Amino acid sequence: MFESTDLQGIIGMATGADRIAIDAPDQLSTAPHSGQSWRKPKFRSARCAEIALGEVEKVWVPWATPTGQSSVPGWMQVGFDVWAWMRAAGHEPLEIYPAGAFRVLAGKVPPKKTTSAGLHARIELIEPHVELPVGIEMWSHDGIDALAGALVALWSLDGRARPVGHDAPECDSSSIWLPRSSSAEATPRDVWRRAAGSEGLEPPTF
Ligand SMILES: [Zn+2]
Repeated sequence: MFESTDLQGIIGMATGADRIAIDAPDQLSTAPHSGQSWRKPKFRSARCAEIALGEVEKVWVPWATPTGQSSVPGWMQVGFDVWAWMRAAGHEPLEIYPAGAFRVLAGKVPPKKTTSAGLHARIELIEPHVELPVGIEMWSHDGIDALAGALVALWSLDGRARPVGHDAPECDSSSIWLPRSSSAEATPRDVWRRAAGSEGLEPPTF
């Protein structure tokens, strides 16, 4: 663990990573859909990824990326900084949204993550796909979110995760990655091994 301002700590952690997932937008919105009055007012100036996530996937993020620096909340500024540091270090991370990932894995909206039922439901959704860390029941929801983000990053390698965004010429290049299917439908081990084998990669321990 390190402070969110610890540039060396974050870059050091990312060294050698095949995929990096960040639960935050990478930059201010350029508001490609700002004039479109039929869209949800809160999201008219948002990035395409947030609009697509809501309109197509029915997963509405509680924030919308602002167009001006003065409206950027602290957590989002940390995200902007981490994105910039990662890119400067040669990485191209994926943007993820753990609440959306759990929504897809569950096939419905799971209980709130701040409740013990919600935490338990999230652990159950992850459990088929990883060897659960010892003591995960004691983790905070932030740790569980990070684990879901890591799974989506891993799945981006073999097609079990997909980017959600727009690809029209007037759109921005933002995308938020989600699992392709619910936890019950995913076939984690054999799909990964096939993909890993064809790429000559060492499969992780599940
Ligand atoms: Zn768009």
